[in-house]
Amino acid sequence: MKIQNYIKGEFVNPIAATWLDNYNPSNGEIYGQIPNSQQADVELAYQAAQSAFPSWSNTSLATRSKILAKIAALIKDKIQLLAEAESKDNGKPVSLAKEVDIPRAAANFQFFANAITQFGSEAHESVGLNAVNFTLRHPIGVVGCISPWNLPLYLFSWKIAPAIAAGNCIVAKPSEVTPMTAYLLGEICTEAGLPKGVLNIVHGLGSTTGQAIVSHPNIKAISFTGGTETGAHIASVAAPMFKKLSLELGGKNPNLIFADCDYETMLATTVRSSFANQGQICLCGSRIFVEETIYEKFKKDFVQKVRQLQVGHPSDAATQVGALVSKAHLEKVKSYITIAEEEGAKVLYGGLEVTVPGYENGYYLQPTVIEVQDNLCRINQEEVFGPVVTIMPFKTDAEALALANEVKYGLSATVWTNNLNRTMQFSKQLQTGIVWVNTWMLRDLRTPFGGQKASGVGREGGFEALRFFTEPKNICIKYE
Ligand code: NAD
Repeated sequence: MKIQNYIKGEFVNPIAATWLDNYNPSNGEIYGQIPNSQQADVELAYQAAQSAFPSWSNTSLATRSKILAKIAALIKDKIQLLAEAESKDNGKPVSLAKEVDIPRAAANFQFFANAITQFGSEAHESVGLNAVNFTLRHPIGVVGCISPWNLPLYLFSWKIAPAIAAGNCIVAKPSEVTPMTAYLLGEICTEAGLPKGVLNIVHGLGSTTGQAIVSHPNIKAISFTGGTETGAHIASVAAPMFKKLSLELGGKNPNLIFADCDYETMLATTVRSSFANQGQICLCGSRIFVEETIYEKFKKDFVQKVRQLQVGHPSDAATQVGALVSKAHLEKVKSYITIAEEEGAKVLYGGLEVTVPGYENGYYLQPTVIEVQDNLCRINQEEVFGPVVTIMPFKTDAEALALANEVKYGLSATVWTNNLNRTMQFSKQLQTGIVWVNTWMLRDLRTPFGGQKASGVGREGGFEALRFFTEPKNICIKYE
Protein backbone atom coordinates (compact mmCIF):
# COMPACT_ATOMS: atom_id res chain seq x y z
CA MET A 1 0.00 0.00 0.00
CA LYS A 2 1.28 3.44 -0.94
CA ILE A 3 0.33 6.21 1.46
CA GLN A 4 0.38 9.95 0.73
CA ASN A 5 0.95 13.21 2.51
CA TYR A 6 -2.13 14.96 3.93
CA ILE A 7 -1.97 18.62 2.96
CA LYS A 8 -4.83 21.12 2.90
CA GLY A 9 -7.28 18.30 3.55
CA GLU A 10 -6.18 16.34 0.47
CA PHE A 11 -3.99 13.27 0.04
CA VAL A 12 -1.10 14.18 -2.27
CA ASN A 13 2.03 12.52 -3.61
CA PRO A 14 5.43 13.93 -2.61
CA ILE A 15 6.51 16.59 -5.12
CA ALA A 16 9.70 14.76 -6.11
CA ALA A 17 7.73 11.48 -6.35
CA THR A 18 10.27 9.55 -4.28
CA TRP A 19 9.22 6.89 -1.80
CA LEU A 20 10.52 4.87 1.15
CA ASP A 21 9.78 1.22 1.88
CA ASN A 22 7.67 0.37 4.90
CA TYR A 23 8.42 -2.92 6.67
CA ASN A 24 6.17 -5.21 8.67
CA PRO A 25 8.29 -6.23 11.69
CA SER A 26 6.26 -9.38 12.34
CA ASN A 27 7.52 -11.01 9.11
CA GLY A 28 10.30 -8.72 7.90
CA GLU A 29 8.51 -8.04 4.61
CA ILE A 30 8.00 -4.74 2.79
CA TYR A 31 4.29 -4.07 2.75
CA GLY A 32 4.01 -0.52 1.56
CA GLN A 33 5.62 2.76 0.61
CA ILE A 34 5.59 6.18 2.21
CA PRO A 35 6.46 9.59 0.78
CA ASN A 36 10.12 10.53 1.05
CA SER A 37 9.12 14.17 1.59
CA GLN A 38 11.59 16.97 1.08
CA GLN A 39 11.74 20.66 1.94
CA ALA A 40 9.30 21.55 -0.86
CA ASP A 41 6.64 19.24 0.64
CA VAL A 42 7.13 20.79 4.06
CA GLU A 43 6.82 24.24 2.47
CA LEU A 44 3.53 23.21 0.84
CA ALA A 45 2.27 21.95 4.20
CA TYR A 46 3.40 25.15 5.88
CA GLN A 47 1.56 27.30 3.29
CA ALA A 48 -1.61 25.28 3.87
CA ALA A 49 -1.31 25.67 7.63
CA GLN A 50 -0.54 29.37 7.39
CA SER A 51 -3.57 30.04 5.18
CA ALA A 52 -5.86 28.12 7.57
CA PHE A 53 -4.60 29.93 10.67
CA PRO A 54 -6.58 33.23 10.60
CA SER A 55 -9.88 31.40 10.44
CA TRP A 56 -9.03 28.52 12.80
CA SER A 57 -7.56 30.79 15.47
CA ASN A 58 -10.85 32.73 15.45
CA THR A 59 -13.06 29.65 15.50
CA SER A 60 -15.08 29.50 18.70
CA LEU A 61 -13.96 27.20 21.48
CA ALA A 62 -17.29 25.41 21.27
CA THR A 63 -16.74 24.57 17.60
CA ARG A 64 -13.14 23.48 18.13
CA SER A 65 -14.24 21.35 21.06
CA LYS A 66 -16.99 19.72 19.00
CA ILE A 67 -14.59 18.81 16.19
CA LEU A 68 -12.06 17.34 18.62
CA ALA A 69 -14.79 15.28 20.28
CA LYS A 70 -15.90 14.05 16.86
CA ILE A 71 -12.32 12.96 16.04
CA ALA A 72 -12.25 11.08 19.36
CA ALA A 73 -15.53 9.34 18.54
CA LEU A 74 -14.34 8.33 15.06
CA ILE A 75 -11.11 6.89 16.48
CA LYS A 76 -13.21 4.79 18.84
CA ASP A 77 -15.44 3.66 15.96
CA LYS A 78 -12.40 2.58 13.94
CA ILE A 79 -10.55 0.91 16.79
CA GLN A 80 -10.15 -2.46 15.04
CA LEU A 81 -8.78 -0.90 11.83
CA LEU A 82 -6.41 1.40 13.73
CA ALA A 83 -5.20 -1.30 16.13
CA GLU A 84 -4.41 -3.66 13.26
CA ALA A 85 -2.60 -0.89 11.36
CA GLU A 86 -0.57 0.04 14.44
CA SER A 87 0.38 -3.56 15.05
CA LYS A 88 1.37 -4.18 11.43
CA ASP A 89 3.65 -1.11 11.43
CA ASN A 90 5.11 -1.51 14.89
CA GLY A 91 5.05 -5.22 15.76
CA LYS A 92 3.09 -4.69 18.98
CA PRO A 93 0.34 -7.17 19.88
CA VAL A 94 -3.00 -6.15 18.34
CA SER A 95 -4.51 -6.74 21.80
CA LEU A 96 -2.19 -4.11 23.31
CA ALA A 97 -2.98 -1.58 20.58
CA LYS A 98 -6.70 -2.20 21.20
CA GLU A 99 -6.41 -1.95 24.97
CA VAL A 100 -3.92 0.90 25.28
CA ASP A 101 -2.75 2.77 22.18
CA ILE A 102 -5.95 3.47 20.30
CA PRO A 103 -8.22 4.16 23.31
CA ARG A 104 -5.57 6.58 24.57
CA ALA A 105 -5.44 8.38 21.20
CA ALA A 106 -9.23 8.85 21.43
CA ALA A 107 -8.88 9.97 25.05
CA ASN A 108 -6.27 12.57 24.04
CA PHE A 109 -8.72 14.26 21.65
CA GLN A 110 -11.62 13.97 24.10
CA PHE A 111 -9.52 15.34 26.95
CA PHE A 112 -8.47 18.46 25.03
CA ALA A 113 -11.99 18.89 23.64
CA ASN A 114 -13.01 19.44 27.27
CA ALA A 115 -9.86 21.12 28.58
CA ILE A 116 -9.91 23.95 26.02
CA THR A 117 -13.31 25.06 27.27
CA GLN A 118 -11.91 25.37 30.81
CA PHE A 119 -8.54 26.91 29.97
CA GLY A 120 -8.75 30.49 31.17
CA SER A 121 -6.46 33.42 31.73
CA GLU A 122 -5.52 34.91 35.06
CA ALA A 123 -6.46 38.42 36.18
CA HIS A 124 -4.87 40.47 38.96
CA GLU A 125 -6.09 43.69 40.45
CA SER A 126 -3.03 45.78 41.30
CA VAL A 127 -4.47 47.27 44.47
CA GLY A 128 -3.21 50.75 45.33
CA LEU A 129 -1.91 51.31 41.79
CA ASN A 130 -5.34 51.67 40.18
CA ALA A 131 -4.59 49.02 37.59
CA VAL A 132 -5.85 45.67 36.46
CA ASN A 133 -3.66 43.07 34.82
CA PHE A 134 -4.88 40.17 32.80
CA THR A 135 -3.26 37.66 30.51
CA LEU A 136 -4.35 36.81 27.01
CA ARG A 137 -3.23 33.49 25.62
CA HIS A 138 -3.05 33.54 21.83
CA PRO A 139 -2.35 30.56 19.61
CA ILE A 140 1.24 30.64 18.38
CA GLY A 141 0.57 30.19 14.65
CA VAL A 142 1.99 27.29 12.68
CA VAL A 143 3.63 24.70 14.91
CA GLY A 144 5.62 21.53 14.19
CA CYS A 145 4.84 18.17 15.83
CA ILE A 146 7.32 15.31 15.46
CA SER A 147 6.74 11.92 17.04
CA PRO A 148 8.47 8.52 17.45
CA TRP A 149 7.55 4.93 16.56
CA ASN A 150 6.94 3.27 19.91
CA LEU A 151 3.41 4.55 20.65
CA PRO A 152 2.63 5.98 17.21
CA LEU A 153 -0.94 7.33 17.29
CA TYR A 154 -0.93 7.71 21.08
CA LEU A 155 1.99 10.18 21.00
CA PHE A 156 1.13 11.83 17.68
CA SER A 157 -2.34 12.71 19.00
CA TRP A 158 -0.94 13.80 22.38
CA LYS A 159 0.64 16.73 20.53
CA ILE A 160 -1.91 17.37 17.80
CA ALA A 161 -4.97 17.51 20.05
CA PRO A 162 -3.73 20.34 22.33
CA ALA A 163 -2.14 22.22 19.43
CA ILE A 164 -5.37 22.45 17.43
CA ALA A 165 -7.53 22.87 20.54
CA ALA A 166 -5.50 26.00 21.31
CA GLY A 167 -6.10 27.38 17.80
CA ASN A 168 -2.82 26.56 16.07
CA CYS A 169 -2.31 24.98 12.66
CA ILE A 170 0.15 22.15 12.29
CA VAL A 171 2.83 20.63 10.12
CA ALA A 172 3.27 17.17 11.62
CA LYS A 173 5.57 14.26 10.95
CA PRO A 174 5.09 10.78 12.40
CA SER A 175 7.98 8.35 12.55
CA GLU A 176 8.95 7.01 9.13
CA VAL A 177 8.93 3.53 10.70
CA THR A 178 5.26 3.70 11.78
CA PRO A 179 3.34 6.07 9.48
CA MET A 180 0.07 4.17 9.00
CA THR A 181 -2.14 5.41 11.83
CA ALA A 182 -1.11 9.01 11.22
CA TYR A 183 -2.17 8.52 7.60
CA LEU A 184 -5.54 7.15 8.76
CA LEU A 185 -5.90 10.08 11.16
CA GLY A 186 -5.95 12.39 8.13
CA GLU A 187 -9.06 10.63 6.83
CA ILE A 188 -10.64 10.82 10.28
CA CYS A 189 -9.97 14.56 10.59
CA THR A 190 -11.60 15.20 7.21
CA GLU A 191 -14.61 13.11 8.23
CA ALA A 192 -14.83 15.00 11.55
CA GLY A 193 -15.01 18.33 9.71
CA LEU A 194 -11.61 19.71 10.67
CA PRO A 195 -11.13 22.64 8.26
CA LYS A 196 -8.63 22.09 5.47
CA GLY A 197 -5.06 23.04 6.34
CA VAL A 198 -5.45 22.97 10.14
CA LEU A 199 -3.57 19.66 10.29
CA ASN A 200 -1.03 18.77 7.62
CA ILE A 201 0.90 15.51 7.76
CA VAL A 202 4.14 15.01 5.86
CA HIS A 203 5.87 11.64 5.85
CA GLY A 204 9.58 11.03 5.51
CA LEU A 205 12.94 10.75 7.18
CA GLY A 206 14.02 12.75 10.20
CA SER A 207 17.14 14.02 8.52
CA THR A 208 15.18 15.54 5.60
CA THR A 209 11.47 15.99 6.36
CA GLY A 210 11.99 16.45 10.11
CA GLN A 211 14.94 18.76 9.59
CA ALA A 212 12.90 20.88 7.14
CA ILE A 213 10.15 21.33 9.77
CA VAL A 214 12.57 22.20 12.56
CA SER A 215 14.55 24.69 10.45
CA HIS A 216 11.54 26.34 8.78
CA PRO A 217 11.81 30.05 9.64
CA ASN A 218 8.07 30.51 10.17
CA ILE A 219 7.21 27.37 12.12
CA LYS A 220 7.28 28.95 15.52
CA ALA A 221 7.22 26.06 17.96
CA ILE A 222 8.38 22.45 17.89
CA SER A 223 6.87 19.73 20.01
CA PHE A 224 9.18 16.75 19.74
CA THR A 225 9.19 13.27 21.26
CA GLY A 226 12.07 10.97 20.46
CA GLY A 227 15.66 10.17 21.33
CA THR A 228 17.90 12.37 23.45
CA GLU A 229 20.52 12.83 20.72
CA THR A 230 17.87 13.88 18.21
CA GLY A 231 16.41 16.26 20.80
CA ALA A 232 19.80 17.87 21.34
CA HIS A 233 20.23 18.31 17.58
CA ILE A 234 16.75 19.81 17.20
CA ALA A 235 17.46 22.23 20.04
CA SER A 236 20.71 23.31 18.34
CA VAL A 237 18.77 24.15 15.16
CA ALA A 238 15.63 25.64 16.72
CA ALA A 239 16.96 27.57 19.72
CA PRO A 240 18.98 30.14 17.70
CA MET A 241 15.75 30.82 15.76
CA PHE A 242 13.98 31.50 19.11
CA LYS A 243 11.42 28.76 18.56
CA LYS A 244 9.43 27.51 21.49
CA LEU A 245 10.56 23.95 22.26
CA SER A 246 9.05 21.00 24.06
CA LEU A 247 11.39 18.00 24.14
CA GLU A 248 10.25 14.62 25.47
CA LEU A 249 13.30 12.40 25.30
CA GLY A 250 14.81 9.12 26.42
CA GLY A 251 14.80 7.41 29.81
CA LYS A 252 16.67 4.87 31.92
CA ASN A 253 14.10 4.53 34.62
CA PRO A 254 14.77 2.99 38.03
CA ASN A 255 12.31 0.56 39.61
CA LEU A 256 13.05 0.51 43.36
CA ILE A 257 11.69 -2.48 45.25
CA PHE A 258 11.66 -2.50 49.06
CA ALA A 259 11.00 -5.54 51.26
CA ASP A 260 7.90 -3.93 52.81
CA CYS A 261 5.99 -3.70 49.50
CA ASP A 262 2.89 -5.67 48.46
CA TYR A 263 4.99 -8.38 46.85
CA GLU A 264 2.57 -10.00 44.43
CA THR A 265 1.27 -6.70 43.02
CA MET A 266 4.84 -5.49 42.66
CA LEU A 267 5.93 -8.68 40.89
CA ALA A 268 3.09 -8.67 38.35
CA THR A 269 3.49 -4.93 37.69
CA THR A 270 7.26 -5.22 37.35
CA VAL A 271 6.86 -7.83 34.61
CA ARG A 272 4.58 -5.37 32.81
CA SER A 273 6.75 -2.30 33.41
CA SER A 274 9.75 -4.23 32.07
CA PHE A 275 8.29 -5.80 28.93
CA ALA A 276 5.07 -4.06 27.87
CA ASN A 277 5.30 -3.09 24.20
CA GLN A 278 8.51 -5.21 24.00
CA GLY A 279 10.10 -2.83 26.52
CA GLN A 280 9.81 -0.03 23.97
CA ILE A 281 8.12 2.55 26.18
CA CYS A 282 10.12 5.53 27.39
CA LEU A 283 8.63 4.85 30.85
CA CYS A 284 9.64 1.19 31.15
CA GLY A 285 11.55 0.47 34.34
CA SER A 286 14.73 -0.82 32.76
CA ARG A 287 16.90 -0.73 35.92
CA ILE A 288 15.44 -2.82 38.74
CA PHE A 289 16.99 -2.32 42.19
CA VAL A 290 15.87 -4.71 44.94
CA GLU A 291 16.40 -4.54 48.70
CA GLU A 292 19.00 -7.13 49.61
CA THR A 293 16.79 -9.08 52.05
CA ILE A 294 14.35 -10.09 49.26
CA TYR A 295 16.79 -10.03 46.35
CA GLU A 296 17.27 -13.80 45.90
CA LYS A 297 13.53 -14.47 46.20
CA PHE A 298 12.71 -11.70 43.72
CA LYS A 299 15.33 -12.93 41.28
CA LYS A 300 13.85 -16.44 41.28
CA ASP A 301 10.21 -15.34 41.09
CA PHE A 302 10.81 -12.67 38.46
CA VAL A 303 12.78 -14.94 36.14
CA GLN A 304 10.11 -17.61 36.51
CA LYS A 305 7.38 -15.16 35.47
CA VAL A 306 9.43 -13.75 32.58
CA ARG A 307 10.06 -17.27 31.31
CA GLN A 308 6.29 -17.73 30.99
CA LEU A 309 5.78 -14.67 28.77
CA GLN A 310 4.49 -15.70 25.38
CA VAL A 311 6.55 -14.32 22.49
CA GLY A 312 4.63 -14.55 19.25
CA HIS A 313 2.95 -13.04 16.24
CA PRO A 314 1.22 -9.74 17.11
CA SER A 315 -2.17 -10.87 15.85
CA ASP A 316 -2.15 -14.08 17.94
CA ALA A 317 -4.40 -13.44 20.95
CA ALA A 318 -2.04 -15.38 23.24
CA THR A 319 0.95 -13.14 22.42
CA GLN A 320 2.33 -10.99 25.25
CA VAL A 321 5.61 -9.97 23.61
CA GLY A 322 5.41 -9.15 19.90
CA ALA A 323 8.09 -8.15 17.39
CA LEU A 324 10.64 -5.37 17.82
CA VAL A 325 10.04 -2.42 15.54
CA SER A 326 12.82 -2.96 12.99
CA LYS A 327 15.78 -5.10 12.05
CA ALA A 328 18.14 -2.24 12.94
CA HIS A 329 16.55 -1.88 16.35
CA LEU A 330 16.71 -5.63 17.00
CA GLU A 331 20.43 -5.55 16.19
CA LYS A 332 20.95 -2.58 18.51
CA VAL A 333 19.17 -4.29 21.41
CA LYS A 334 21.12 -7.52 20.85
CA SER A 335 24.38 -5.58 20.78
CA TYR A 336 23.62 -4.21 24.26
CA ILE A 337 23.18 -7.76 25.59
CA THR A 338 26.63 -8.61 24.21
CA ILE A 339 28.10 -5.44 25.70
CA ALA A 340 26.62 -6.33 29.10
CA GLU A 341 28.16 -9.81 28.99
CA GLU A 342 31.52 -8.37 27.95
CA GLU A 343 31.32 -6.03 30.92
CA GLY A 344 30.86 -8.99 33.29
CA ALA A 345 27.06 -8.95 33.72
CA LYS A 346 25.19 -12.25 33.81
CA VAL A 347 22.20 -13.05 31.58
CA LEU A 348 19.73 -14.79 33.91
CA TYR A 349 17.17 -15.38 31.18
CA GLY A 350 16.68 -14.56 27.51
CA GLY A 351 19.06 -12.85 25.15
CA LEU A 352 18.20 -14.96 22.13
CA GLU A 353 16.16 -14.32 19.00
CA VAL A 354 12.90 -16.24 18.78
CA THR A 355 11.72 -17.99 15.62
CA VAL A 356 7.97 -17.73 15.32
CA PRO A 357 6.72 -20.51 12.99
CA GLY A 358 5.46 -19.04 9.73
CA TYR A 359 7.13 -15.69 10.46
CA GLU A 360 10.79 -16.72 10.45
CA ASN A 361 12.03 -13.33 9.22
CA GLY A 362 10.26 -11.33 11.95
CA TYR A 363 12.19 -9.41 14.60
CA TYR A 364 11.46 -11.40 17.76
CA LEU A 365 13.63 -11.45 20.88
CA GLN A 366 13.23 -13.22 24.21
CA PRO A 367 12.45 -10.94 27.14
CA THR A 368 15.83 -10.66 28.82
CA VAL A 369 16.88 -10.31 32.47
CA ILE A 370 20.47 -9.37 33.25
CA GLU A 371 22.10 -9.29 36.68
CA VAL A 372 24.60 -6.47 37.02
CA GLN A 373 27.17 -5.63 39.71
CA ASP A 374 27.90 -2.06 38.72
CA ASN A 375 25.42 0.73 38.04
CA LEU A 376 27.99 2.51 35.88
CA CYS A 377 28.15 -0.28 33.27
CA ARG A 378 26.80 0.67 29.86
CA ILE A 379 23.69 -1.52 30.07
CA ASN A 380 22.67 0.51 33.15
CA GLN A 381 23.62 3.91 31.78
CA GLU A 382 22.49 3.87 28.14
CA GLU A 383 18.96 3.56 26.83
CA VAL A 384 18.40 0.15 25.23
CA PHE A 385 14.67 0.63 24.57
CA GLY A 386 13.89 -3.04 24.19
CA PRO A 387 12.82 -6.12 26.17
CA VAL A 388 15.91 -6.02 28.39
CA VAL A 389 16.05 -5.19 32.11
CA THR A 390 18.82 -5.36 34.66
CA ILE A 391 18.55 -6.28 38.31
CA MET A 392 20.87 -5.38 41.16
CA PRO A 393 20.58 -5.48 44.99
CA PHE A 394 20.88 -2.55 47.42
CA LYS A 395 21.24 -2.40 51.20
CA THR A 396 19.99 1.00 52.38
CA ASP A 397 17.59 3.75 51.32
CA ALA A 398 20.53 6.09 50.74
CA GLU A 399 22.18 3.59 48.43
CA ALA A 400 18.92 3.00 46.51
CA LEU A 401 18.44 6.72 45.99
CA ALA A 402 22.03 7.21 44.84
CA LEU A 403 21.75 4.32 42.34
CA ALA A 404 18.47 5.67 40.98
CA ASN A 405 19.85 9.17 40.44
CA GLU A 406 23.25 8.04 39.15
CA VAL A 407 22.32 8.30 35.46
CA LYS A 408 22.08 11.12 32.94
CA TYR A 409 18.35 10.54 32.34
CA GLY A 410 15.48 11.69 34.56
CA LEU A 411 12.14 10.66 33.08
CA SER A 412 10.32 8.42 35.58
CA ALA A 413 10.88 6.25 38.63
CA THR A 414 8.82 3.64 40.45
CA VAL A 415 9.03 2.97 44.19
CA TRP A 416 7.51 -0.09 45.83
CA THR A 417 7.05 0.44 49.57
CA ASN A 418 4.39 0.80 52.23
CA ASN A 419 6.48 3.19 54.31
CA LEU A 420 5.06 6.72 54.20
CA ASN A 421 8.27 8.50 55.19
CA ARG A 422 10.23 6.63 52.54
CA THR A 423 7.52 7.42 49.98
CA MET A 424 7.83 11.12 50.69
CA GLN A 425 11.64 11.15 50.85
CA PHE A 426 11.98 9.35 47.51
CA SER A 427 9.22 11.44 45.91
CA LYS A 428 11.15 14.58 46.82
CA GLN A 429 14.65 13.38 46.04
CA LEU A 430 14.33 11.31 42.89
CA GLN A 431 15.59 13.39 39.96
CA THR A 432 12.76 12.51 37.58
CA GLY A 433 9.69 14.21 36.13
CA ILE A 434 7.37 11.42 37.30
CA VAL A 435 7.44 9.21 40.40
CA TRP A 436 5.05 6.29 40.70
CA VAL A 437 4.57 4.73 44.13
CA ASN A 438 3.11 1.21 44.18
CA THR A 439 1.96 1.47 40.57
CA TRP A 440 3.30 2.06 37.07
CA MET A 441 2.09 4.07 34.09
CA LEU A 442 -1.11 5.14 35.75
CA ARG A 443 -1.81 8.41 33.96
CA ASP A 444 -4.26 11.19 34.74
CA LEU A 445 -4.24 13.36 31.62
CA ARG A 446 -4.54 16.54 33.70
CA THR A 447 -1.07 16.06 35.19
CA PRO A 448 2.20 17.37 33.76
CA PHE A 449 4.26 14.81 31.86
CA GLY A 450 7.95 15.05 31.02
CA GLY A 451 11.48 14.56 32.20
CA GLN A 452 14.43 16.20 33.90
CA LYS A 453 18.11 16.10 32.89
CA ALA A 454 18.70 14.39 29.50
CA SER A 455 15.05 13.23 29.43
CA GLY A 456 13.82 16.55 28.18
CA VAL A 457 12.72 20.12 28.51
CA GLY A 458 9.18 21.24 29.24
CA ARG A 459 6.05 19.34 30.13
CA GLU A 460 3.09 17.99 28.16
CA GLY A 461 -0.35 17.10 29.46
CA GLY A 462 -3.26 19.02 30.93
CA PHE A 463 -3.03 22.80 30.94
CA GLU A 464 0.77 22.53 30.57
CA ALA A 465 0.23 21.48 26.95
CA LEU A 466 -2.21 24.34 26.33
CA ARG A 467 0.27 26.76 27.89
CA PHE A 468 2.99 25.44 25.58
CA PHE A 469 0.81 25.89 22.51
CA THR A 470 -0.16 29.47 23.39
CA GLU A 471 1.73 32.73 23.69
CA PRO A 472 0.89 34.63 26.88
CA LYS A 473 0.47 38.39 26.71
CA ASN A 474 0.07 40.54 29.79
CA ILE A 475 -2.36 43.48 29.46
CA CYS A 476 -2.12 46.21 32.11
CA ILE A 477 -4.93 48.81 32.23
CA LYS A 478 -4.53 51.87 34.42
CA TYR A 479 -7.63 53.70 35.57
CA GLU A 480 -8.26 56.86 37.57
P1 NAD B 1 14.20 9.39 17.04
O1 NAD B 1 14.77 10.52 17.81
O2 NAD B 1 15.10 8.62 16.16
O3 NAD B 1 13.02 9.90 16.09
C1 NAD B 1 11.89 10.55 16.60
C2 NAD B 1 11.27 11.38 15.49
O4 NAD B 1 12.18 12.42 15.16
C3 NAD B 1 11.01 10.62 14.20
O5 NAD B 1 9.82 11.08 13.60
C4 NAD B 1 12.22 10.97 13.35
O6 NAD B 1 12.00 10.85 11.98
C5 NAD B 1 12.42 12.42 13.77
N1 NAD B 1 13.79 12.94 13.53
C6 NAD B 1 14.95 12.25 13.51
N2 NAD B 1 15.97 13.11 13.22
C7 NAD B 1 15.44 14.34 13.10
C8 NAD B 1 15.98 15.63 12.81
N3 NAD B 1 17.27 15.81 12.58
N4 NAD B 1 15.13 16.68 12.77
C9 NAD B 1 13.81 16.52 13.00
N5 NAD B 1 13.23 15.32 13.24
C10 NAD B 1 14.05 14.24 13.30
O7 NAD B 1 13.47 8.46 18.10
P2 NAD B 1 12.76 7.08 17.82
O8 NAD B 1 13.81 6.04 17.62
O9 NAD B 1 11.69 7.25 16.82
O10 NAD B 1 12.03 6.85 19.24
C11 NAD B 1 12.65 6.26 20.34
C12 NAD B 1 13.07 7.32 21.34
O11 NAD B 1 11.95 8.12 21.73
C13 NAD B 1 13.60 6.71 22.62
O12 NAD B 1 14.75 7.41 23.00
C14 NAD B 1 12.48 6.96 23.61
O13 NAD B 1 12.87 7.03 24.96
C15 NAD B 1 11.94 8.26 23.13
N6 NAD B 1 10.59 8.48 23.64
C16 NAD B 1 10.40 9.43 24.60
C17 NAD B 1 9.13 9.65 25.13
C18 NAD B 1 8.87 10.68 26.18
O14 NAD B 1 7.70 11.03 26.36
N7 NAD B 1 9.86 11.18 26.86
C19 NAD B 1 8.06 8.89 24.64
C20 NAD B 1 8.30 7.94 23.65
C21 NAD B 1 9.57 7.74 23.15
